[in-house]
Amino acid sequence: MASIDHASYEAWEKAYGDFYEALPGKPAVVCPNCGHDALRIAFVANESDRIGSAMFWCGFCNFGIHISRTWVPEGVAFYVRGTPWEEIGKEVPEYTLVYPPVTDELPADSGFDE
Ligand SMILES: [Zn+2]
Repeated sequence: MASIDHASYEAWEKAYGDFYEALPGKPAVVCPNCGHDALRIAFVANESDRIGSAMFWCGFCNFGIHISRTWVPEGVAFYVRGTPWEEIGKEVPEYTLVYPPVTDELPADSGFDE
């Protein structure tokens, strides 16, 4: 196995938390992976309750995470669930996903089955 010299999922989660807190303002958070001020976020959510998922990535190094369940803050634009990927893909690149570390205690809803 090659050594891992990229930011951990934990670091990404922290950056996401700080970024999310600042919305809809301009978050002063840099990429945990490369240090550039190039983080981006896009939400896909239900029009009714604004609950959905988020894509959080760096436009410079093209790494990021996927948040499976979140709420779109007031004042933040989002894609309504069901928006074709061609539309979302104009904004969101195919970035390299960072996954949470595999532990013995997988969350019950992880869907993983070794
Ligand atoms: Zn980066």
